[in-house]
Amino acid sequence: MSLIVHKYGGTSMGSTERIRNVARRVAKWHRAGHQMVVVPSAMSGETNRLLGLAKELSPASTTKALQRELDMIASTGEQVSVGLLAIALQAEGLESVSYTGWQVPIRTDSAYTKARIQSIDDARIRADLDAGRVVIITGFQGVDEGGNVTTLGRGGSDTSAVAVAAALKADECLIYTDVDGVYTTDPRIVPEARRLATISFEEMLEMASLGSKVLQIRSVEFAGKYRVPLRVLSSFTDWNIDLAEEAASGTLITFEEAVNMEQAVVSGIAFSRDEAKISLLGVPDRPGIAFSILGPVAEANIDVDVIIQNVSHDGKTDFSFTVPRGDHARALELLKTQVGPAVGASQVVGDARICKVSIVGIGMRSHVGVASRMFRTLADEGINIQMISTSEIKTSVVIDEKYMELAVRALHRAFDLDQAAA
Ligand code: ADP
Ligand code: ASP
Ligand code: MG
Repeated sequence: MSLIVHKYGGTSMGSTERIRNVARRVAKWHRAGHQMVVVPSAMSGETNRLLGLAKELSPASTTKALQRELDMIASTGEQVSVGLLAIALQAEGLESVSYTGWQVPIRTDSAYTKARIQSIDDARIRADLDAGRVVIITGFQGVDEGGNVTTLGRGGSDTSAVAVAAALKADECLIYTDVDGVYTTDPRIVPEARRLATISFEEMLEMASLGSKVLQIRSVEFAGKYRVPLRVLSSFTDWNIDLAEEAASGTLITFEEAVNMEQAVVSGIAFSRDEAKISLLGVPDRPGIAFSILGPVAEANIDVDVIIQNVSHDGKTDFSFTVPRGDHARALELLKTQVGPAVGASQVVGDARICKVSIVGIGMRSHVGVASRMFRTLADEGINIQMISTSEIKTSVVIDEKYMELAVRALHRAFDLDQAAA
């Protein structure tokens, strides 16, 4: 007997018909002798609808007090899902019980809208499992020290599921979604993308952090920290397919470094539109300038990603960096009114029409010339690179947003990731 955690995303929970299918699939696993914990998301579109209502009343929820209420509202989508799934399982003849994050409890810090899980009490879950019940736990939500409801950031149900699996030392965590695994890039953008049978943990971490939303990055971090066996697979197969076949489908996240000489140099391509650029022109080039600019940005709780400082001319330099698009207006205001004048910049300009495209692969460690192949591919397409950032297993470029799909397709082809023609 194994302890298995299933996570079902919004589309997989998108209608009562789909919820019935989820229940039948879970019932199949339970009848095969496994202890089952299920972590569903809100029904598709529900979290957006709920947050949209809040936005009608308060367009920018920047204060902590407002963000507390956003979490109160957004968390209700998952509460409906767990109740519906528990009913559907009971209709299948199984004993089941649903819990919210605060009932478990799943303890988090108080960073509303992006809280981090600190601990999970497994006592209640274990008692139910031992009594033969299927336990259903809300994704996306937790509770802070003060008893306030928190949420884990968009896509956070992945993280709930992996954290629950880690706390229970589950044998496997299966992430059921609307694609049948992790692909070389988002198959919605590149139809030629190929499903990967396995992907290394490090590559998955980079893919998730660079924009592939198939898994929320924190879920991958949890899987790595606690060595949770993790698989991404489709909830759209017939629920009745052979269990062994289902259990081996999709994409397995692996922790062992593949001893595979055939390892592709680049395993995948990630992209993100959630980017904006800010440039300070004509800044005096003196020690401490980066700190004078980026210190206040960090204090305003704005994440900075790619940074570039030009060679100075006549003691002046240009300094550019990227921030999440949602923080662009706030960052630009701060730079224009305070930081720019304080450091003596001649001009502060912003651009929210950029994107970041990245190539990822552990094979890049042992191969030279990978980045230059990327740059040549983009040059051949006439795409101008505005910024570059590299690490051992990825190279990212910032380009004009309007070339994003073109760049992703061209790179996918250039690194031999397209699937063979049928
Ligand atoms: P869920 O609601 O099940 O959590 P998400 O929409 O959050 O599903 O994530 C699944 C989606 O991730 C897919 O529909 C796909 O468009 C997108 N995606 C982005 N990059 C990839 C990738 N490399 N492989 C597979 N899917 C990807
Ligand atoms: N329902 C939440 C969201 O839409 C969490 C999730 O789906 O993972 O972001
Ligand atoms: Mg998701």
